[in-house]
Amino acid sequence: MSEQDKTEDLRRVVVIAAHPDDPEFGCAATIAKWAASGREITYLLLTSGDKGCHDRDVRPGQIAGRREEEQRAAAAVLGVSDVVYLNYPDGLLENTLELRRRLSLFIRERQPQIMLAIDPFRRYQLHPDHRAAGQAALDALWAAREWYLFPEQLLGDREPWRISEAYLFWAETPDYWEDVSEFVDKRIEALRCHASQIGQRAATLEERVRDGLRATAKDHGMEYAEAFKKIKF
Ligand SMILES: [Zn+2]
Repeated sequence: MSEQDKTEDLRRVVVIAAHPDDPEFGCAATIAKWAASGREITYLLLTSGDKGCHDRDVRPGQIAGRREEEQRAAAAVLGVSDVVYLNYPDGLLENTLELRRRLSLFIRERQPQIMLAIDPFRRYQLHPDHRAAGQAALDALWAAREWYLFPEQLLGDREPWRISEAYLFWAETPDYWEDVSEFVDKRIEALRCHASQIGQRAATLEERVRDGLRATAKDHGMEYAEAFKKIKF
C-alpha cells in the first residue's frame, strides 16, 4: 500500500474531549500537523466548560458561550472547522449508557478512521470529566463496531464502524511520539485563543509550551514532540 493510500484510509479524525481547551492542551500541534496534511478533523466537546470561571458573578451560561467561541477560534487556527458541542454539564460528566449511545451513533455516522481522546487510564487523573470523557470515547469506539450493541442505530442503511487507530493524550505510558517541530507556533497561537482560561499565564505560555514539548521530544530524535498511547485495531 502506498503512502497516499494509507493517508486516504486514515483521513477522517474525531477528537473527543471533555472541555473546550482540552484538545489544545492535549495535542494541538498534532492536530495542526494532521490538518495541514489533508486530514478532516472534527471536534466533539462533551461539555462547554460552563464551570470554568472562578468569578461568582459570572453565570455558567455566559462562560459556556464564551468558551465555545474560544474553542471555535482555536480550532480554526489549527485548521479544524467542524466543532460539535453536546452541552453536558461541566464537572458532572458521567460515562453513562446514554452518552455511550450518542457517541456510538456519532462514530457510525461520521465514520472516522482515527480517534484522539483523553487517556482515562492515567493514575490519579483527578478531574472526573477527563476520566469520564476518555472512558466514554473508548467504550463508544468499541460499541460502534459491534452489530449487537445499540442495534436500533443499524435499522436502516447504517452499518457498524471500526475505527482503525486511537491516540490517547495525557497518557501516563505513551508509546508514540509525533514530531511537531513545525507546528509549535500553532499550538501556542491556538492556546492563546482560550483567553478566559489562560488568564495571567499568558506571559509565560510560549516558554512553557516550548519547554514541555522539548522535554517530551527528548530521547526520541526530535526537537519538539507530543506523546500518545497509540492503540491500533
Ligand atoms: Zn479539561
